[in-house]
Amino acid sequence: MGVPIRRTWILVWIAGVVNPCPQPNEEAVKAFYLDRVSIVATYNNEVRSPSVTMEIPSVVCLRSYHKHSLKSIPAFTRFNVFLRDNFRCQYCGKRQKATDLTFDHVVPKKDGGKCNWSNIVSACIKCNGRKGSRMIKNIPDMALLKTPTVPTMHELQFESRKFPPKYLHESWRDYLYWDTPMEQE
Ligand SMILES: [Zn+2]
Repeated sequence: MGVPIRRTWILVWIAGVVNPCPQPNEEAVKAFYLDRVSIVATYNNEVRSPSVTMEIPSVVCLRSYHKHSLKSIPAFTRFNVFLRDNFRCQYCGKRQKATDLTFDHVVPKKDGGKCNWSNIVSACIKCNGRKGSRMIKNIPDMALLKTPTVPTMHELQFESRKFPPKYLHESWRDYLYWDTPMEQE
């Protein structure tokens, strides 16, 4: 489509998800023409009007945010957790590709640790394996880089700007997997 992918793309709207058989999504097309979204991926079929023919957007990112969306709580998704943590293992601090990162329960499940913003951190495979289902205080030479908290949209947007153009796009090939909200406890 020749549409530049903005570097600040946190919120992604997957058009047509509700209906598994993609229909021309008027809202996505309209939003594109109003310059509110960039198109990341399209379906193979086209939508036609007397003057315009375009492929139907399947994934779009918002170009800007209204004030209230910046203040709202971001969806608890894999992508947003990694973004909050700057794609760094929260134990050794190394930056990893999304596919090489895992999620660690800071307080292990067996000790009542929940799956939510305050207890889930990004961890590399090595650190996750080393920590296992122990409390961090019981492991010598291992500490959290920072206490996990619920980020604001503004913070996620700030984090996303640290990445080179297209980095996040390429590390995030399976949009549905990465942007599906995880079940919080
Ligand atoms: Zn690590």
